[in-house]
Amino acid sequence: MSNNQKMSFTTQNRLIIFGLVLSTLLIMAIAVFATVNIQKNLNESYQNFGQVMSKILAIESVEITKDASKTQTFDILKSHSESILKSNEDITFLEFRAQDGSLIYKAKNNNEENSKRPSVAFSSPMTNIIDNTNIGSVTVGLSGSIIGKVSSTTRASILFVFTIVWLVFAFVILINTYLITRELRILRDGVHKISSGEFGYKIEGENVSDEVQELFDSFNDMSARLNIYEEQNIEQITLERNKLEAVLMSIVNGVVVCDNNDNVVLLNGHAKELLELEGDELLNSNIQQYVDTEGEYCFSEKIDEYKNLSMEEKTSKPIIFNVTIGGRILKSIISPMFTRNHDYVGYIIVLIDVTRETEMDLMKSQFISNVSHELRTPVTVLRSYIDTLYNYGEEFDIETQKEFIGTLNTEIVRLNRMVNDILDFSRLDSNAKIEKSENDISQLVDSCVSQVEVLLKENNLKIDVQKDNEVPLLMFNYDAIARALTNYLSNAIKYAPQDSTITVKLFNEVDKNQVTVTVKDEGCGIAPEHQKKVFERFFRVENKTHSVKGTGLGLHLVKTTIEKHHYGNVFVQSQVGQGSTFGFSLPIDLSKLDCVEDDLV
Ligand code: ADP
Repeated sequence: MSNNQKMSFTTQNRLIIFGLVLSTLLIMAIAVFATVNIQKNLNESYQNFGQVMSKILAIESVEITKDASKTQTFDILKSHSESILKSNEDITFLEFRAQDGSLIYKAKNNNEENSKRPSVAFSSPMTNIIDNTNIGSVTVGLSGSIIGKVSSTTRASILFVFTIVWLVFAFVILINTYLITRELRILRDGVHKISSGEFGYKIEGENVSDEVQELFDSFNDMSARLNIYEEQNIEQITLERNKLEAVLMSIVNGVVVCDNNDNVVLLNGHAKELLELEGDELLNSNIQQYVDTEGEYCFSEKIDEYKNLSMEEKTSKPIIFNVTIGGRILKSIISPMFTRNHDYVGYIIVLIDVTRETEMDLMKSQFISNVSHELRTPVTVLRSYIDTLYNYGEEFDIETQKEFIGTLNTEIVRLNRMVNDILDFSRLDSNAKIEKSENDISQLVDSCVSQVEVLLKENNLKIDVQKDNEVPLLMFNYDAIARALTNYLSNAIKYAPQDSTITVKLFNEVDKNQVTVTVKDEGCGIAPEHQKKVFERFFRVENKTHSVKGTGLGLHLVKTTIEKHHYGNVFVQSQVGQGSTFGFSLPIDLSKLDCVEDDLV
């Protein structure tokens, strides 16, 4: 029970006690007033009674002694007095005196009790009725015992009646108070239940007044309304929360929500995946304590830095940094979180997997470095050869001049190839369609092989071409497919050791609705982890060194040509130290493929 309730209860008790004391005092005052009044009236009546008694006795005494002698008078008065005293205990004495004041007779009541009481005396003159002369006086002494008895009985009766009245009054007040507080208690219990969240709680009372019943009904109505409101509210909140969770879960980036004390209050599935968490171990724990698989605190330092910013700085420029977790590079952005009322409640860390972009950036910069290196070399060679021929050409014999021009030609071809590669890259990577016509792939293989004859010779390499006899004509862009095969061939030549053999095969795989071309070399081979990446743009295994020339675009162009523009597929099989087999397949009947409707029109 709260202090307020205690206070109001005490005040109520005080009021009841005050009421009772006041009513007691009132009743007592009325009782005393009534008793005093009755006592007064009794005394007056008693006085009158004594007066009347003495008068009657005076008249009677005159009457019974009128003709008697002195001695007879004494006897008459004595016997009369005794009979009076006997019949009335309240009379303590009777006294008869002559006119001169001498005592004629005095009779006393022998009752001991009366002798102790205070006696009141009433005198009346004895008058002769005939001549109206005074012949003496009679004095009657009254003990007052009757009036004492009457007044004590009256007092007791009044006290009894008033006590009963007071008791009934007090009882009614207490019962009434109890009944009122009982209803209040029922109401108080109901309010307690409601305040503790038990909406819908009903209160009931038996034999309550109409007003109280009305109050109870209103309370029950309010409780029911609160219950409905709460149910609707919970439903709404749950719906909103589910929506929010669905949005959060479907965000492709990781989201970690932290409160003001750095405790994680929410994180989505992607965040768990990126942070390499298996369960909810990070939930409700401090984000600063998060360590990656190598035991590094990934966020601690940056969060401290963020917390040292002013609120304005936090809002205007979120902290952005990269962390590496499990080989993945995660771009992390810390930004503040506010309620609708703009109260700061914590911060959100968004995690974006930028591994791929970072790798691409690196590859792009390596590509630019490679291209500039690749361009510089032939340009330098061309410049020095042309310079030599221009200044000293006449000094050389025709054979040497031819040799010079041959070298110039080779370098120009190399330059041309590189420029073509870059141009092809932008052309093939775009969505522009390339022209296709029905062509003989077998003839294309022969043509490409003959084009690299010179290179093969230069590198002392043998070539073995194996072709299936019946290969159907296919729809393809002749130049694009020729460039793709030449790419495979020049790579094989580039990486094959001297005196080894390069094997070119052409299969007709009718059952698979495809024709496949493979180029096999006995070169250094490619490690499995690199095999997946060789077809990516700008990827070069030997990026760190410029030992073998290239831009990292060749195989990417082959893949784009075959897969994007001809609906075929490319592949590589390789073993480090033993060689590689690069290949591509082209579909025979395009109408059997689901994805090429555009090209069939
Ligand atoms: P580049 O023009 O630089 O040669 P490519 O896209 O043609 O680029 O090749 C990508 C990478 O694949 C090369 O850097 C090389 O490491 C590897 N590669 C391609 N062909 C072969 C091969 N026949 N043998 C070994 N490695 C090869």
